[in-house]
Amino acid sequence: MSTSSRESAIVIGAGIVGAACADALAARGLRVTVIEQDAIGSGATAAGMGHLVVMDDNEAELALTAWSLALWRELAAGQAQRHEYSNCGTIWIAADEEELAAARAKAHTLASHGLACELLDPAALYAREPALRPGLAGGLLVAGDGLVYPPKSAHILLGRARTNGATLVAGSVVRIEDNGVLLADGSRHQASIVVLAAGSRSTTLLPELPVQPKKGHVAVTDRYPGFIRHQLVELGYIKSAHAASGESVAFNLQPRPTGQILIGSSRQFDTIDLAVEPRMMRRMLRHAASFTPGLAQLNLLRCWTGLRAASSDGLPLIGPYPVRRGLWLATGHEGLGITTSLATAQLLADQIVGAHSAIPCQPYLPSRFDKPARAHA
Ligand SMILES: Cc1cc2nc3c(=O)[nH]c(=O)nc-3n(C[C@H](O)[C@H](O)[C@H](O)COP(=O)(O)OP(=O)(O)OC[C@H]3O[C@@H](n4cnc5c(N)ncnc54)[C@H](O)[C@@H]3O)c2cc1C
Repeated sequence: MSTSSRESAIVIGAGIVGAACADALAARGLRVTVIEQDAIGSGATAAGMGHLVVMDDNEAELALTAWSLALWRELAAGQAQRHEYSNCGTIWIAADEEELAAARAKAHTLASHGLACELLDPAALYAREPALRPGLAGGLLVAGDGLVYPPKSAHILLGRARTNGATLVAGSVVRIEDNGVLLADGSRHQASIVVLAAGSRSTTLLPELPVQPKKGHVAVTDRYPGFIRHQLVELGYIKSAHAASGESVAFNLQPRPTGQILIGSSRQFDTIDLAVEPRMMRRMLRHAASFTPGLAQLNLLRCWTGLRAASSDGLPLIGPYPVRRGLWLATGHEGLGITTSLATAQLLADQIVGAHSAIPCQPYLPSRFDKPARAHA
């Protein structure tokens, strides 16, 4: 589909994904209106850990995360402090021989895609992260991973979009129409393109989407610079992230540039109640302290929850969705939406203006799911 530079776009949602889409579309000359019902970057974007991580569960996930990581490094270049960006890298922790075999397989995959990584034997692991409990089998250091403070990055991206002419409307979209939206105050906004980037709330507007909320708990400590130096994630995290039902916790510890330690994370289906659950928090903290025992001595400052928008096949939905004329989706990013926001925005904008993308768009197209009712297919 080709577009003139005067084409207009509405973006529903100013989380990291909506902000990135607004930025990419405005940069291509579209007249962009962002509609947000709350504060900028206040949804899952505010709750997320901001870990920028290459994931390799399948080729499509690897392609999207690796490209997006490269875009983040470009974006943060020269302005790391504004994004609270750190190129700390990830160490995937192998608790036993079975997980070490998984680390080796992961190293092979990443290396074959040109991504820098290093297998760590126990001595090398403890030299890098002395706070880890004794007896671990080793680890895998993925050097290109990093972290940002997501709400700040959302503000920066939206600010860039506004510099390129985008406008922000405070309001709640209650209906998506052909080439437009209806707001709760009764007003209508029209545009040739409507991008739904409403995170876990996307199904409020399109209930048939194969996306469901996955609740997560996170906690943050006081400042303890040097307690850990890399993002630490147990290889068992992958099992937890893949679960399609029930509850799970996984060890995921992040050294914030402030010296604080961000502790994650949990996964729960079948709830949209954002209340912190002491039971889940206890389980998550105990599990984290089983990897880094010194954690139990640190002061916790705050804990919170958020809702990931989990698609049924684990990949986001990026592309046209013609149940309404002009409608496009950028949603379903589950626990990777901070990482993949920038590549999502480029993929979406490239499709809209008919440009070639750095990676194929097919694996992420909403059309991969059967949709019985396509009014304007
Ligand atoms: C506990 C937890 C930890 C995470 N950790 C990481 C991590 O380390 N790394 C990573 O990459 N990802 C992580 N994620 C995932 C990441 O946070 C999300 O994938 C990402 O923030 C999704 O961004 P979004 O813009 O799609 O959604 P959101 O941030 O939820 O934004 C959607 C916006 O749309 C607005 N909106 C919704 N409905 C309407 C409407 N009808 N009208 C107007 N506005 C509307 C909302 O108010 C909101 O601001 C984590 C998530 C959680 C919950």
